[in-house]
Amino acid sequence: MPQTINWAQYLTRPTLMIPGPTELAFPVIQAMNAPPSVQYDASFDEKVLEPTLLGLREVFQSRGDVFLLPGSGRTALEAGATSVIEPGDRVIVVVAGQFGSLMREIMVRAGAEVTEFAVEWGRPFDLARLAAEAERVRPRAIHLVHNETSTGATYPAEAVGKIARGVGALFLLDTVSAIAGIDVRSDEWGVDLNMTGSQKCLGAPLGLGVVGVSDRAWEAMERRRTRAKSYAYDLLQWRKTWMPESRGGRLPAGAARSQPVSIPTHLTAAMRVAVELILAEGLPHRFARHAVAAAALRAGLGAMRLDLFPDPSIASNTVTCVRTPPGIDARAVVSTMRDRYGILIGTGLDKIRADTLRIGTMSLTASPLYILPTLSALELTLREHGGKYEPGASVAAAQSIFADAS
Ligand code: PLP
Repeated sequence: MPQTINWAQYLTRPTLMIPGPTELAFPVIQAMNAPPSVQYDASFDEKVLEPTLLGLREVFQSRGDVFLLPGSGRTALEAGATSVIEPGDRVIVVVAGQFGSLMREIMVRAGAEVTEFAVEWGRPFDLARLAAEAERVRPRAIHLVHNETSTGATYPAEAVGKIARGVGALFLLDTVSAIAGIDVRSDEWGVDLNMTGSQKCLGAPLGLGVVGVSDRAWEAMERRRTRAKSYAYDLLQWRKTWMPESRGGRLPAGAARSQPVSIPTHLTAAMRVAVELILAEGLPHRFARHAVAAAALRAGLGAMRLDLFPDPSIASNTVTCVRTPPGIDARAVVSTMRDRYGILIGTGLDKIRADTLRIGTMSLTASPLYILPTLSALELTLREHGGKYEPGASVAAAQSIFADAS
């Protein structure tokens, strides 16, 4: 019988198995179903914003400060970089994929003298070579993407933090697709700016950048010779106008707090619930859940004889990037999965767009509930595009990983 049934036709939207934005828990969605509150009103500030930021500190594993900004991961990256970097500062940016390139561009625009540490996409890199480069350049900051979403590879943030510390450089870490899915120990690893977005493993809606700031980063901002060019995204403003002296800020006791940029109240309410869910689950459990989910997904893909794009030693637990079989275009696979099975996965990015697929295992989607149907739909889709697979083999392989872990 020809395969003509379109099971997705009654769905109003596909299930999001892309590497963010990801599916939202119902209490997170419900938190946005409320009339507007006023962002500068003390009740929002004290009852919603402040508890959210304190909760995020725990998620960031940091005693430092964490701030929300309207925007996305890119806002967090730009706010972080432009708050600490001055024109002419030397920086090293590790570029191992599209998001490393993004920070290189942000740094160039900030006027930094950028040394790119180029890494072949999907490959591990030589830490000794980076350490030697850091000794040579003596940069003001070293930037790393912890989890390169374009290639599905996780890089050794702790070791890079040590290299940065060794040469007295600030350590800037992009954790957009890592935080709350992969262990990120901001304080222990010496992360000075931990920059991320709301819509991935935090399990909150798209629309917020999140930045964690260490004492060293505050000192660097206080010592600037020139003022940051941005007003709204100058992090130092938070210290001056929002943080009381009792918390290391510059605001005298009793003085009215003001946010340097108006904070979206609905998104913060949703983030508050997302953070509560993360802390209720517990970070160790959450990281283990993502690890099992990614292992199950990889086992399912392996049963279809699909090769991972990155070196397996650095395969990510939140984003899996896999090569399509020869002759099958990744874009056609994505369309069929979305239109016929109601599941949205991503193609690769940039130069690997046509021959790789990317699947997110983030927050809710790091679970059998989402992974088993995704593998099933992918197997059927690849069969339709000419692949020869035993029906159910990929689901069986994934299911046995979940069974062993339960
Ligand atoms: N950095 C990484 C590692 C990402 O995965 C992304 C987005 O996918 C970004 C930065 C940019 O974040 P946003 O799309 O939230 O602006």
